[in-house]
Amino acid sequence: MSDPVKKKTAREILKSHELFARKRFGQNFLVDEDVLDDITEASMVTKDDFALEIGPGLGVLTRRLSEAAREVTAVEIDTELIPVLEETLSGCTNVTVLNQDILKTDLKALIRERNGGKPIAVVANLPYYITTPILMKLLTTGLPIRSVTVMIQKEVAERMIAGPGSREYGALSLAVNYYTEPEIVRTVPPSSFYPRPKVESAVIRLMKREKPPVAVEDENLLFRLIRCSFNHRRKTLVNGLLTENKGLWTREQVLSFLEEAGLPPMVRGESLSLEDFARLTNVIGYF
Ligand code: SAM
Repeated sequence: MSDPVKKKTAREILKSHELFARKRFGQNFLVDEDVLDDITEASMVTKDDFALEIGPGLGVLTRRLSEAAREVTAVEIDTELIPVLEETLSGCTNVTVLNQDILKTDLKALIRERNGGKPIAVVANLPYYITTPILMKLLTTGLPIRSVTVMIQKEVAERMIAGPGSREYGALSLAVNYYTEPEIVRTVPPSSFYPRPKVESAVIRLMKREKPPVAVEDENLLFRLIRCSFNHRRKTLVNGLLTENKGLWTREQVLSFLEEAGLPPMVRGESLSLEDFARLTNVIGYF
């Protein structure tokens, strides 16, 4: 398929529509063919698949997904890019563009209507200003999703794959590992985008787990405990839990939770593995 985006540069396409890249929508358009190929390949999308793209921008990745997938829905917030996409995606008959905010899109209904409720693949060069809310929506709301292959800030990708004790380890690492098996596919320099972002980027693939690696009675409590410990990184876990849950437990009670979960009294949350948090959740859940 001839690619109208390849013939013109991103800058020329924007200029011909009298547009500029909009910072407030996180618009850094991919202009590197190799990176586009690598994202598409890493997504493992085939002609059996329905792919959801978040933020198609000028449509470069969308065109590749259109060739790889059975059907593509691309959700773009910027109304000014819709006429551009009509041009750059002309001939891509299996692509639907929705002019919507992905955070407000009813994805459950979309997947039901367009893919019979069966698991979909999500692929995107994400707008970095809302990476975490988008990923939390995709991972924690019980949507039928098989995999999420996305470009994000390299620093955020490193936080996602970090383990206990490292500086990058935090609530995001634990949430990602609870729901998925993450893998950094490659890093991407600022020169692969127009305009160039200030930071390095990385493509990460999150394969959704069939079931979490730990069993907890109360998932909400697990994530509440995780938040409590990382909101107070410098404090011991006991002090973090007491500060965040004022009046709920006494120090003696919290110390006894830790003891029952096999954790030392002075432990800091940042050294706890997902398994440790799960044990503590189940101890407190039975309290
Ligand atoms: N996919 C294109 C590419 O790789 O060149 C564009 C990627 S650009 C980093 C992010 C895109 O997401 C932009 O097109 C931007 O307008 C869009 N976007 C930003 N916020 C959004 C939101 N809340 N919902 C849907 N799209 C959004």
